[in-house]
Amino acid sequence: MSFDSLGLAPELLRAVEEEGYTEPTPVQLEAIPLGLEGRDVVGSAQTGTGKTAAFLLPILQRLQLGKRGTLRALVLVPTRELAEQVLLSARAYGRHTKLTSVAVYGGVGMEPQTSALRKGVDIVIATPGRLLDHMGRGHVNATKLEVLVLDEADRMLDMGFAPDVNRILDALPSKRQTMLFSATISNDVDRLARRAMRDHAAVEIGRRAEAAEGVEHVLVAVDKPHKRGALAKVLTEFPQGRTLVFTRTKFGADKLAHHLRREGNNVLALHGGKTQASRTKALDRFKNGGTRVLIATDVAARGIDVDDIMMVVNYDVPRDPEIYVHRVGRTARAGAQGVALTLMSPDEWLMMRDVEKLMGRTFPREVMPGFEPAVPPVQPRERAERAKPQGRSVRPRRGRGRTR
Ligand code: AMP
Repeated sequence: MSFDSLGLAPELLRAVEEEGYTEPTPVQLEAIPLGLEGRDVVGSAQTGTGKTAAFLLPILQRLQLGKRGTLRALVLVPTRELAEQVLLSARAYGRHTKLTSVAVYGGVGMEPQTSALRKGVDIVIATPGRLLDHMGRGHVNATKLEVLVLDEADRMLDMGFAPDVNRILDALPSKRQTMLFSATISNDVDRLARRAMRDHAAVEIGRRAEAAEGVEHVLVAVDKPHKRGALAKVLTEFPQGRTLVFTRTKFGADKLAHHLRREGNNVLALHGGKTQASRTKALDRFKNGGTRVLIATDVAARGIDVDDIMMVVNYDVPRDPEIYVHRVGRTARAGAQGVALTLMSPDEWLMMRDVEKLMGRTFPREVMPGFEPAVPPVQPRERAERAKPQGRSVRPRRGRGRTR
């Protein structure tokens, strides 16, 4: 099915074509017609499914009618990186319209945002805290608001934004269209959806916590002190392709980056403890190929929208199994192939079992020659996805390419 059949205006179809999209993703197929009808939508969709275009295209179409230069669509996002990313998408998809957009987030000066808000802009993409700041100072006139989007709602709640989001909801006109997107629809997200909208047609895409199909999961048992050496070896053996390494803490990200750099690896760290300027610089270098390896914490990685990530490395097994799904969703985006490599120390075995339970599948435990753990890993009892004898050396397949 092509974009033509969705009822989008020619100037949007042109932009979509220029982006190189040939057909809508499943979430776009379901959400765009509902969005165009002005319906409220709850979409269960992870990053990488094309959800940004699923809400932006109907917004851009709707806003073309009516008076320009007044705030009529608001997109709330959890992080500044995601705000910037959605802004880029709004400008790309809206390049043949006259609509304007601005991103509003903390950690940078208020002034440029204030003057853009005062001048009048059609679409505001904002993190909740900074938006409230602007609202409190009278910089935002939301009386003409027509559409509200809550993007990555689960992450907003995880980050403690519920009170801010509720205050914002209270300040917005109640007659509006509301679209909520979330990787998973937990009870809290459901509660938020009920509070934010009256009538919603739930658009549920994909099974809960299902990772992208093109991901090859490789699970390596290694003792904690050897993780760094094992990772350095992986990076040396597979010198091609962008690699995103996840650590649980900011401190862990810095420490790992420091050590890998000392061993001659070109790596950068990205986390919320860094200044906005250095975060932007790290992301730009990762995007333009200046650095191949980015070490990030989960929160900082939310807004990273980089295609062609060949490998995601879980340097720590995440405590929350859903985070595993988020992390590995950074590779194999939009139909491409990728590898998710997890370095698992014995204290993390149980956490890995939780991940497997959530995903409804098991992965064989492998070991890396030279980094065998003191206690050999126990293979899961269920039939392993790729039953390989223990001791197989890790060698992600090569030559994988994007499908677009
Ligand atoms: P999102 O889930 O919105 O973060 O989008 C993930 C990636 O998919 C982005 O790099 C988009 O540019 C890309 N994308 C979105 N829609 C399509 C489409 N219909 N066909 C191909 N790629 C797409």
